Amino acid sequence: MSFCSRVKNELSRINKNKKCCLEAELSAIISVNSLPDSKKSEKSSIKIVTENAAFARRTFSLIKELSGICPKVVCRKSQKLKKHTTFILTIQNGREIEQKYRRKFEFIKTRECCKRAFLRGAFLAAGSISDPEKTYHLEISVKTLELANKLVELINSYDLNSKIIKRKGYYVVYLKEGDHIVDFLNIIGAHGSLLELENIRILKDMRNNVNRIVNCETANLDKTVTASLRQIKNIEYLRDNFGLDNLPENLRQIAELRLKYSDASLKELGQMLNPPLGKSGVNHRLRKLEQLAEELKRK
Ligand SMILES: [Zn+2]
Repeated sequence: MSFCSRVKNELSRINKNKKCCLEAELSAIISVNSLPDSKKSEKSSIKIVTENAAFARRTFSLIKELSGICPKVVCRKSQKLKKHTTFILTIQNGREIEQKYRRKFEFIKTRECCKRAFLRGAFLAAGSISDPEKTYHLEISVKTLELANKLVELINSYDLNSKIIKRKGYYVVYLKEGDHIVDFLNIIGAHGSLLELENIRILKDMRNNVNRIVNCETANLDKTVTASLRQIKNIEYLRDNFGLDNLPENLRQIAELRLKYSDASLKELGQMLNPPLGKSGVNHRLRKLEQLAEELKRK
């Protein structure tokens, strides 16, 4: 089961207690998910379509509790490879309910409990979240800019940074940052999923950090060792073909130290000199030695 389905299943099990919040949740579900009934004779009815069984059951019971009407439910199994089941809820006087709730948005906005319920309903009905093992992305796609703006207003009232993009005729409200997605799950009450996401994040961060440190250290070690071996070869060539004693004093000193301490870093070599010398000074002298060796080889 996908992470997204697990989040929706958890949200669908949240206790239904306060009537104001149930109305806010249903209001969101109907505004983001409903389609007009295609039959001309059924102008006042609307449909809610979903593949999530738990969400279909929750919506059914919300409608029944709040309006006393039982929606008609049809299950359709798709013939494709992945056997999806689609649930279609038809609500007879859905248009009326939709109008009634549309007017309630200003009220919902002012109540903390209802704001959360509205966002939960919107996510259940039209939201999706990526598998956090792969990437951090949460979105809710809606049919009108007006509705997208309402969602952004609610989400960003919690100091989150949701944005809107247009995709295939939908307005997609999305969150991209791991921190913000965790906060959003907290707001809508998906606490179990939130913990699961946090655990994955911690493991991912640790893995990344360890890899970064190991890569960085390996790269540096490699570079230091390769350079040191090359310097030593050149100094040995100078020693055997030119004589270290014939070098200027400052070059002779560093040449002898390099031969003696093949594992030392440039910084460490510099500290052994009297007076001590910085890393770039040591590097400069070693380059000089290598140039001398190269010239000598050419002759
Ligand atoms: Zn409420």
